[in-house]
Amino acid sequence: MDIQEVHHHLTQHGIKSSMQRVVIMQYLMEHKTHPTIDQIFSDLLPSVPTLSKTTVYNTLKLFYDKKAVISLAIDDRNVRYDAETSDHAHFKCRKCGAIFDVPLEKTDIPAFRGHISHNPDEIQIYFLGVCGECLKG
Ligand SMILES: [Zn+2]
Ligand SMILES: [Zn+2]
Repeated sequence: MDIQEVHHHLTQHGIKSSMQRVVIMQYLMEHKTHPTIDQIFSDLLPSVPTLSKTTVYNTLKLFYDKKAVISLAIDDRNVRYDAETSDHAHFKCRKCGAIFDVPLEKTDIPAFRGHISHNPDEIQIYFLGVCGECLKG
């Protein structure tokens, strides 16, 4: 991933770059797995030994407040994070636990085809089932 893209995503959302913010955002942009705080922390720790879990937590909270990431309530144990902030739904595999992006537009949802005056700025829709990999065998 081009580091400029990471900087761009941060500045676009009014976030000043710092080493740790860039590293965490880059991780999220490169890993479309919707990781938890624990996963992000343990994956980054070897390359960023000064990182603390509190920093990861606070950085993700900042990203979330600035709408640079979305958080998913799809997992009942852990919040998952996603740097893909455009409208989309998710599919969670009951077997392997993987979470995939599913394309979805607001206009795909009948309730929002024009005749409701609310303006949702976040979509939390998810499907549960068995993913293609697990179906294969
Ligand atoms: Zn699966
Ligand atoms: Zn996603």
